[in-house]
Amino acid sequence: MRVRLLFPTPEVAAQAYLPLIYTACRTCYSELDPQEIFDRATDGRVTPEKQQELVRKVIESGHGSTIEHIVFTFAISGVTRTLSHQLVRHRAGLAFDQQSQRYLKYREPAYMVPGSIADADPELRERFTDALDDSLAFYGELLEAGIPGEDARFVMPNATRTNLVMTANLRALIHMSGLRLCTMAQWEIRRLFQLIRHEVFTVSPFLGAFLAPKCVPLGYCDEDRNRDEHCPIRPHKDSVLGAWSEKRAAAKAAGRDLPVR
Ligand SMILES: Cc1cc2nc3c(=O)[nH]c(=O)nc-3n(C[C@H](O)[C@H](O)[C@H](O)COP(=O)(O)OP(=O)(O)OC[C@H]3O[C@@H](n4cnc5c(N)ncnc54)[C@H](O)[C@@H]3O)c2cc1C
Repeated sequence: MRVRLLFPTPEVAAQAYLPLIYTACRTCYSELDPQEIFDRATDGRVTPEKQQELVRKVIESGHGSTIEHIVFTFAISGVTRTLSHQLVRHRAGLAFDQQSQRYLKYREPAYMVPGSIADADPELRERFTDALDDSLAFYGELLEAGIPGEDARFVMPNATRTNLVMTANLRALIHMSGLRLCTMAQWEIRRLFQLIRHEVFTVSPFLGAFLAPKCVPLGYCDEDRNRDEHCPIRPHKDSVLGAWSEKRAAAKAAGRDLPVR
């Protein structure tokens, strides 16, 4: 699997991305024109630190439209159709283009062997790779027999590799990362989002830091499958609510109210 950030370049990200979000945020609370706000942000009259302070507050408050003004375009290659099927389920703030199994006649279709199968009993592993090799050899035979690619591809397995270009605005990217960096996500798509996060970090550590499992900004885990808290990143919401209930009961028993902050 390979991921490369095609846009923005480090120069564009450094010059424009923070000022763009800052301008969107500041416009809401300022009598100044957006042009003037942007000029002040790019010529140094408003320092990057000051801009980051406002942008952080706005993102953490969930005012998401302000971060829809910037986009990231990724070249994603060598992922499986299993992954791409999950990826394109995301709809808002995104554009995808994917290698066509209809128009492309694969001479040597490639596939991925999951780690659990690569490390499994050698006989099982061999049966797995034989099954994939057979499917893909049959695909070639179908093409040679004159079957159109759009029909021959029906025999291709989920393990077949594919390539995509994905453009996401920052709001979409944070939302997707929240779901797909979670330890409950499937390993391949989780790996993809680790690489995406790395790529965003290379052009903006400040913005890259917002790409995190959803429990990080929430402060608790809301995944049903983590009620046993086997993932230790954040406590499950049941524990958080349980602790709060206990505290409230203790305060009531002592005849005082819980402080409201
Ligand atoms: C761990 C995990 C397991 C999953 N398992 C399954 C599964 O077994 N089967 C399955 O089918 N899918 C599964 N999914 C996919 C999941 O149900 C979503 O389709 C996918 O994660 C896209 O999420 P989304 O709808 O929040 O995101 P996006 O489509 O990116 O949307 C972002 C947000 O925009 C808003 N939005 C977008 N479109 C609309 C709309 N039409 N109406 C109202 N609001 C909208 C919502 O607030 C949404 O959260 C799984 C996902 C994860 C992360």
